[in-house]
Amino acid sequence: MGDFDVDLFVIGAGSGGVRAGRIAAGYGARVAIAEESRVGGTCVIRGCVPKKLYVYASRFPDHFADAAGFGWNVPKATFHWPTLVANKEAEITRLEGIYRRNLANSGVEIIDSRAVVEDPHTVRILATGARITARVILIATGARPILEPAIPGGELGLISDQIFDLAALPERLLVIGGGYIAVEFAGIFSGLGVETTLLHRGPHLLRGFDEDLRVGLEEAYRERGIELLLERTIERLDRNGEGVLATLSDGTRRSFSHVLVATGRWPHTRGLGLEAAGVALNAKGAVVVNDYGATNVASIFAVGDVTDRVNLTPVAIREGHAFADTIFGDKPTTVDHATIPTAVFSTPELGTIGPSEAAARALYPDLVVYRTRFRAMKSTLSGRNEPMMMKILVDPATDKVIGVHILGEGAGEMIQVVGIAVTMGATKADFDRTMAVHPTAAEELVTLRTPVA
Ligand code: NDP
Repeated sequence: MGDFDVDLFVIGAGSGGVRAGRIAAGYGARVAIAEESRVGGTCVIRGCVPKKLYVYASRFPDHFADAAGFGWNVPKATFHWPTLVANKEAEITRLEGIYRRNLANSGVEIIDSRAVVEDPHTVRILATGARITARVILIATGARPILEPAIPGGELGLISDQIFDLAALPERLLVIGGGYIAVEFAGIFSGLGVETTLLHRGPHLLRGFDEDLRVGLEEAYRERGIELLLERTIERLDRNGEGVLATLSDGTRRSFSHVLVATGRWPHTRGLGLEAAGVALNAKGAVVVNDYGATNVASIFAVGDVTDRVNLTPVAIREGHAFADTIFGDKPTTVDHATIPTAVFSTPELGTIGPSEAAARALYPDLVVYRTRFRAMKSTLSGRNEPMMMKILVDPATDKVIGVHILGEGAGEMIQVVGIAVTMGATKADFDRTMAVHPTAAEELVTLRTPVA
């Protein structure tokens, strides 16, 4: 061990890298971590955290509108975008400080520079040219959005990294894509009062999600005034004064003040020296790893989005922790990628665990489906006409609940708790004998008695 400068060199101080570094240091390893941008990574700096803050901001108009039915007279509210941007910036700066302090308190050395791999035991710090040798190198560089598809004028589009800090709120926004990011940002900007169009190449948003969630969200988005253009692509973008003129595959041309391209994120491996070090990458450029995060090079490991398995922050954190336990804690640990609850912070929100109904049918031909659609109690006085939907999928052979899908207010919070039961292997009978909490929306999950299929 003593032959190397450090025991562990982590490249990338995001969710996975920070957790791995701190836990390894806790086991007594000498750890250094390099970050070319801001400590905290995508989730803290330009992802989950600022996104959720903007989601909160976008929901106030609903609260103001709903208030009237409860007797409140809310004077016309106004929104000031620069205040939101500045307050978001202050909060992520605070969080970055906490991340830095936690790393330092764990004894991890932070190197504010891009680092590249030179050979299986050496990294080079670009800011200084210094070379550091390490017994183990962990690649935790995440993923980054790219401007795809490559169309004429594509450079006029923005990526999600840029959308948080626009100088002014867009007037007319086109969002391209039908995944998490496109759906969430369309909801955010529509809520903030921006005329919003969401264009997706497929017949429905959110491929892979349960069909009732997909269709239910589309209906809600249309009802909220978000224009959905499905089964269409963009052929070209042209500058149009201050804005952008988009030519669509259906031949129409539309003008927007801003275009957000949210057509996926790609593993951040380019120029990292991995190929030269002999690390195997897949066709998408992701680092190929086994269940322990090990690459084909014995001293190099990878966790998180750079491995392109399940690209979610909590998964990266688990992978980072499992890696440190395995390599530095003498506790071989793997991460179960099979049953992962997740939420889409659209408005209304989606919470989901397990396969969609269609995917579950392929696995369990006798699948039993329970589903309810109802108006939440708050809607009675607010007059809001947005239904909630809950669905439970059960394998009749074992009575196990294999999937739960929720559309509506609080779906993200609900699915976190339901996720415990499903992860434990709860049966439908367990759900049924759980006492309801009344009056809540979530009580529907334990009072569903009659299958719909
Ligand atoms: P996704 O992979 O979720 O979605 C990409 C979307 O872009 C899909 O609708 C896809 O269509 C479409 N697309 C891909 N390529 C093209 C193309 N060439 N032309 C037109 N459309 C295209 O990526 P996101 O960027 O939305 O999110 C990245 C990851 O980040 C997610 O997988 C998720 O794991 C994570 N994330 C999680 C969040 C959360 O937990 N709430 C929030 C934000 C991100 P198609 O379906 O047809 O392939």
